[in-house]
Amino acid sequence: MQTIAIPTYLSHLPIYQGWPVPFTQAWFDGKPDFRTVDPQKTVRCVTEKLCAICGRRLGDKSYFIGGPLSKANRVFTDPPMHKRCAEFAEQASRESKHGEDSGDGFNAAANTNVYFNRLD
Ligand SMILES: [Zn+2]
Repeated sequence: MQTIAIPTYLSHLPIYQGWPVPFTQAWFDGKPDFRTVDPQKTVRCVTEKLCAICGRRLGDKSYFIGGPLSKANRVFTDPPMHKRCAEFAEQASRESKHGEDSGDGFNAAANTNVYFNRLD
């Protein structure tokens, strides 16, 4: 059961099975695949400095989510995001862990330890 409220700063995102669908999520046959990112939207995040979660313009500082290897190498799978968006994604990934491998919710993120890294 989902207990996390969807914050107003994510209210513009489409909702699928109770979860907001991140900006960079890939869609197949009208359904989001929470394990796959859309490469074109990822490029937009980099070139237009957009948040991977909300799709809105980033500020001066960006945050990444990744495991220990990502942190050590400073290489992350997902594009940068706002701090509050990263925090929501981390909370959502923990809450949706019960459905691992179903392709629903934020399960891809739930399969890793989550670290917040601010790169200056
Ligand atoms: Zn954001």
